[in-house]
Amino acid sequence: VLEIRDLHKAYHDLEVIKGVDITAHRGDVVSLIGSSGSGKSTILRCANLLENSQQGEILFKGEPITWKGNGHDRLPADPKQVLRIRTNLSMVFQQFNLWSHMTILQNVMEAPVTVLGRDKAEAEEAAHAYLDKVGIRDKHDVYPAQLSGGQQQRAAIARALAMEPEALLFDEPTSALDPELEQEVVRVIKSLAEEGRTMLIVTHDMKMASDVSDKVIFLHQGLVEEQGSPDELFGNPKSERLKGFLSSTV
Ligand code: ATP
Ligand code: MG
Repeated sequence: VLEIRDLHKAYHDLEVIKGVDITAHRGDVVSLIGSSGSGKSTILRCANLLENSQQGEILFKGEPITWKGNGHDRLPADPKQVLRIRTNLSMVFQQFNLWSHMTILQNVMEAPVTVLGRDKAEAEEAAHAYLDKVGIRDKHDVYPAQLSGGQQQRAAIARALAMEPEALLFDEPTSALDPELEQEVVRVIKSLAEEGRTMLIVTHDMKMASDVSDKVIFLHQGLVEEQGSPDELFGNPKSERLKGFLSSTV
């Protein structure tokens, strides 16, 4: 579903992604791990075109993003393609990013109605079903501030699901949460993995990465240092950097 080839990305003169390849087939759960600043968030943001990149290809369902210009001047050429990719790669952020002036139901319905042009009644029915799926059906009428962090994050996941995306991108979905709330969110992510959803997950939670992933990618300073199955990466790490990283995170 999603293929990233030889991605390079610089902020001004600082090159932070230096040639990264990532492939997520349909149904794959791919986790990105690595130290702070290794480029994990940047890769997710480049993948769904929230961020520009300077070199490399991004393919969505085999369709390459078309660019105009080169290097620092390159921009996606086709606004329709950008919209198609953004809606199909729904992102869930560390800080939830719910709209605080809207109820939970409105948060989940908003984009399907305004971006996808769905009928309101249908979108509302679907929104209730997604809220049910993440276990907060009864919270549809309240505002984000009235929910716990774990509930807010589950609402954010329902909102992402409501776009019926091909894949979900998670950027540290549990990092802002207390341990007991974290588990509610981990359970939802596990259930999505079991459903066969395609997901790219940036996480500091090695237990979750190990439990849900088909493939784990360890990034170091903008490059893939090592990748493999969770058993290979966590059970038999080869690179000294990965060994050091794993021993520092336990
Ligand atoms: P963390 O685990 O702390 O979230 P990360 O692996 O997600 O880290 P990124 O946020 O992708 O790392 O950042 C990669 C590098 O890019 C870092 O050196 C960071 O300082 C730099 N960077 C990120 N965003 C910007 C920006 N908007 N402008 C300039 N530099 C940036
Ligand atoms: Mg990050």
